Amino acid sequence: MITDTHTHLYSEAFAEDRDAVIARALQLGVQRFFIPAIDSTYTQAMYDLEAAYPNNMFLMAGLHPTHVKENYAQELAHVAQQLAARKFYAVGEIGIDLYWDKTFLKEQQQAFRQQIAWAKEYHLPIVIHCRDAFDEVFEILEEAKSPELRGIFHCFTGTYPQALQAISCGMKLGIGGVVTFKNGQIDQFIHQIDPRHIVLETDSPYLAPNPYRGKRNESAYIVEVLGKLAGLYQITPDELAQITTQNSREVFGI
Ligand SMILES: [Zn+2]
Repeated sequence: MITDTHTHLYSEAFAEDRDAVIARALQLGVQRFFIPAIDSTYTQAMYDLEAAYPNNMFLMAGLHPTHVKENYAQELAHVAQQLAARKFYAVGEIGIDLYWDKTFLKEQQQAFRQQIAWAKEYHLPIVIHCRDAFDEVFEILEEAKSPELRGIFHCFTGTYPQALQAISCGMKLGIGGVVTFKNGQIDQFIHQIDPRHIVLETDSPYLAPNPYRGKRNESAYIVEVLGKLAGLYQITPDELAQITTQNSREVFGI
């Protein structure tokens, strides 16, 4: 069984063929889909997805850093209201993104800190989005780290020392399509990281692995990531699927 720990299946990119996309993944043994939030405009679509596939879809609540804008206090209130109202499996995706826009850095930092505090309050893992912001993310992670704080450093693209630091902060490394890219770099050192610190993800519809790079990504393509990683670890894809699914159970508690 394969677990996709990060897929935006509710995205409008799947409006035309969502059921077929899910069927293709199920066919390949991808049976668990963890669904990160972006902002309140997607909440209903996430609930609809969960209602259609209650045994396969596991929802997160959170405000994505690129969606931290003027109205972020209102958006955070929505996250708080959701967390209080029902079960979620993580607070995510949350973090800091300085690639697209640095205007709201202070607000992104505040939103990240606040959402980590909620994760602790509800005993939930966090799912971190970090782009061009390793120093800023680690500043907050280091101050927040505690034996109970756990989660996933989603789409990990850092260096070997940064990988070790993320793990020391209680995070697993979310590995997706980037590991199949020629210039992806993590393929250079990932074999030095114990596979019990790794989870698989697609981040679909984004970041399709080779040979689909540049196209719409979908959860079925996670087998490309699995195959590439299993080769780097020199174990079978089945073994790695089992290890990473077990890791995802540790993180999400299901
Ligand atoms: Zn994402």
